[in-house]
Amino acid sequence: MRTEEKEEEEEQQWRSVHEVLLIVLPYLHSLFELLSMTRVSRSFRDAIRDETALWTNVVVEPPLSSRLTDDTLSEITSKSAGKLNTLILRQCLRVTDNGLRRVIDANPLITKMIVPGCTELTPEGIMKCVSSLTKLETLHINGVYGFTKHHISSLSSTYLPREGSIDVEVCPKCDEVRMIPSCSRRSCKQRQSKERKCKGCWFCVSRCVECSVCLGPETEVQEAACGGDVLCLECWIVLPKCCFCNKPYCTSHSSLRHEIASSDDAAAAAARPMFECQACYYREGTNPYDAFDYQI
Ligand SMILES: [Zn+2]
Ligand SMILES: [Zn+2]
Ligand SMILES: [Zn+2]
Ligand SMILES: [Zn+2]
Ligand SMILES: [Zn+2]
Repeated sequence: MRTEEKEEEEEQQWRSVHEVLLIVLPYLHSLFELLSMTRVSRSFRDAIRDETALWTNVVVEPPLSSRLTDDTLSEITSKSAGKLNTLILRQCLRVTDNGLRRVIDANPLITKMIVPGCTELTPEGIMKCVSSLTKLETLHINGVYGFTKHHISSLSSTYLPREGSIDVEVCPKCDEVRMIPSCSRRSCKQRQSKERKCKGCWFCVSRCVECSVCLGPETEVQEAACGGDVLCLECWIVLPKCCFCNKPYCTSHSSLRHEIASSDDAAAAAARPMFECQACYYREGTNPYDAFDYQI
């Protein structure tokens, strides 16, 4: 009787774990989240381990990327039992061509291989993997060193002919293999990608870092506080600005802001900008510590 009760209880627990899994399944994004979930309970850990559907998309991003070795990658991907569909490895600096090869050999159905910033991989290693993946539709390799025009043209003519399936292209202006942003200017968007005059990498064409619109001689260019980045007037207007030099940080550099403690007067605090840029912060006189007299 007792064992029956126990079995029933276990069965119940098992069922509820699976129900929860089905609910959270669509929201689990990366391996980090998945591994965090395994710590919830033993039955949760077992359910996650045995659920092959959970492992068909493997996403490894910082902070886990730096710890991912070839062996761990092989172990994690083997849980999909050959059904791995999406492999996303961002800045996994320890994954080598051999490690990737092992995953590809065991999982021939991969449709997305996204490996930006995996600096141990080589163009040759990736080309070999691509040639054996007949279902591959998307390949991201920005930040993998050594790709040449010839690699890209062979990839796009033989394996991935659809426009946009590879994240890098040959820049028509400097002839280097680089990311080429699309342009948000309406007159540019109307043209075919090949005819677009502003088609070029970030080095060759001046663009707003926020909306990537091309900045020609007839557009007003605004300087950002992050040194080197430029903005279009529309983006400049809406971004919060340094209260000393009135320059905004772009969104990706917004962590460089030095927040200024708000004053007690709420109305005054709301009226003035709440941060200063690094240049102003370190400039003599604005840093409160500069006024401090260190002389004894
Ligand atoms: Zn270029
Ligand atoms: Zn803009
Ligand atoms: Zn443009
Ligand atoms: Zn400033
Ligand atoms: Zn910036």
